[in-house]
Amino acid sequence: MALKEYDIIVIGSGPAGLTAAIYGTRASLKTLLLEKSIVGGQVSKTSLIENYPGFPEGIEGVTLIERMVEQAKKFGVEIAIEAAESIRLNGNAKIIKTKKQDYQAKVVIIASGAKFKELGVPGEIELIGKGISYCAVCDGPLFRNRIVGVVGGGDSALSEAIYLSKLAKKVCLIHRRDEFRAARSIQDKVLATKNIEVMLNTIIKEIKGQLKIESITISDRNTNKDNELKLDGLFIYVGATPNTNFLKGLVTLNEEGYIITNENLETNILGIFAAGDVRKKTLRQISTSVGDGALAAIMAERYLTS
Ligand code: NAP
Repeated sequence: MALKEYDIIVIGSGPAGLTAAIYGTRASLKTLLLEKSIVGGQVSKTSLIENYPGFPEGIEGVTLIERMVEQAKKFGVEIAIEAAESIRLNGNAKIIKTKKQDYQAKVVIIASGAKFKELGVPGEIELIGKGISYCAVCDGPLFRNRIVGVVGGGDSALSEAIYLSKLAKKVCLIHRRDEFRAARSIQDKVLATKNIEVMLNTIIKEIKGQLKIESITISDRNTNKDNELKLDGLFIYVGATPNTNFLKGLVTLNEEGYIITNENLETNILGIFAAGDVRKKTLRQISTSVGDGALAAIMAERYLTS
């Protein structure tokens, strides 16, 4: 099959990728957006977004992404649901391999984001889809009027605990330390929500159940005492890990696997840029991802016309 050629190929369709693709096509550059699974990435799995400007009442992640996709399509971005498996160089050209075919691009913008981490305790993998979930928006409605746990102390855990509190009878928010790292405004909402029980200094040792989750073994870090907590569901939000496996050996990554860029979002390879949560950066928000996407596309345009 003949190689399909593009000026820019963007890998990943979260806010960074969609913004880069919009800026690319608006600059009259032939742009392809590759997405391995769900358009929108993690944002599509986020309930209410309250800190993205322009939406004073907040906006659901899936709605925000639908609007970004509509805008991208309006400007002529091509979207293909194919996972980038590897990138190799052919002179200045970049060849991206997917299961279906090879693509050639003058510029690649990597915006492949990050995926939610597993907790890593016995019973977790066996009970995925049987009460264990990493996506409250997707699976929360299954737990209407039930008792669920949420584990983690960051923005994701606390935001999704608030979302789940509107569906579930009770939410047990389990965190390993004595303070949360989530933004103060989100913490205040959690503390004001009657059916969220906060369990600090608590670790989960095991998740139990046969056909579905039945209980978890928790341990109080102050007393070292174990307890069984009966639950119908457990939502795990213990951080993220970058989607960079397909880049190993080509692009320089830090020890955690995030892409290292300079301030113009250039990687160590000329013509390969990185944007959004996949790169080493201080603040991972939708607004910073959108900024990254715009900058990466503008720098890509400069690279192509220099
Ligand atoms: P995060 O900020 O990395 O927080 C992960 C949490 O999980 C931490 O509280 C951590 O505990 C805990 N944890 C990690 N490993 C654990 C383990 N093995 N067992 C138990 N607990 C564990 O991750 P995130 O909340 O998914 O957020 C990721 C990024 O997206 C952040 O930059 C965040 O600001 C951003 N985000 C923003 C929003 C928003 O602005 N509305 C919403 C979602 C995400 P410790 O605190 O003890 O380390």
